Amino acid sequence: MAIDLCDCRFDGDGRFDILKTPTSPDVKKGERFDYEERTADNAVLMAQLQDRLYAEGREGLVVLLQAMDAAGKDSTIKHVMSGINPQGVSVHSFKQPSAEELSHDYLWRAVTHLPRRGEIALFNRSYYEDVLVVRVHGLWRGYKMPERCTNDSEQQFFGKRYRQIRDFEEYLYENGYRVLKIFLNVSPEQQRQRFLERIDDQSKNWKFSGSDIAERKLWPSYMRAYEDAINGTATKHAPWFVIPADKKWFARWLVSEAIVDVLRQIDPRYPELPQDQRDKLAEYKAQLLSEGGAKGE
Ligand code: AMP
Ligand code: MG
Repeated sequence: MAIDLCDCRFDGDGRFDILKTPTSPDVKKGERFDYEERTADNAVLMAQLQDRLYAEGREGLVVLLQAMDAAGKDSTIKHVMSGINPQGVSVHSFKQPSAEELSHDYLWRAVTHLPRRGEIALFNRSYYEDVLVVRVHGLWRGYKMPERCTNDSEQQFFGKRYRQIRDFEEYLYENGYRVLKIFLNVSPEQQRQRFLERIDDQSKNWKFSGSDIAERKLWPSYMRAYEDAINGTATKHAPWFVIPADKKWFARWLVSEAIVDVLRQIDPRYPELPQDQRDKLAEYKAQLLSEGGAKGE
């Protein structure tokens, strides 16, 4: 049996072990077309559900994507976007924080990009970078904060951040939002292949940077940071989806499954007009029909 969405879901029950989690699904090359068709079907469903989400304007959705370089975040977003109406959707990429952003608390910049209710925000990376790259490079030790914040051990410091993130996501849930958290789990070998492709294909050169090689060398530290972050922040209301990402077409299907699934949970409905307004609509319709008749069209 191939992996499905349930296999990828981790809501904090038990312990998530990153080294035991597959990066490559147990599917054959020949099944690609079938999965691409399923992804296309999900895109239709997504569009219908998003239309209702927007019309209802009751609940907002944040879809955040985390991954190592070249795991397919950008192309996944491109595919997801092709299925939804750009009205009511925003995409934001979280880069190295600016001086302005660093002078605030780390959740501040994420808050400024939250969607309105009824809308979807896609985060390409997110505030999770603040427990990933910030931990791997020990950046937090250089932050301009009082000693009571930076005197902690690494474990204490990030333990507090996991709690803050859990509380933040619960706060969002209690205020009409869902946060869908996706980790595209790619293998180091697949990353190596994709980097080589980025170097060989001139149209992809811009995606490659020398620092990608330096980050790649820190793979074990990143995996530890991901494992701890996922264990520390997966909850019933904001579970993680750890998606095998070595085959892009399979990963896209699973991402589309996850988005359709969360939209179905939201179960958005078109607002129903009260009876008096529906009566008015019938009057307007009668007027419009009689105009058309008068012109003989
Ligand atoms: P890319 O997504 O390849 O364009 O690269 C964005 C870079 O910004 C990545 O190397 C991230 O690790 C880095 N980045 C994102 N958020 C933070 C953060 N809070 N602190 C430090 N670096 C970050
Ligand atoms: Mg990069």
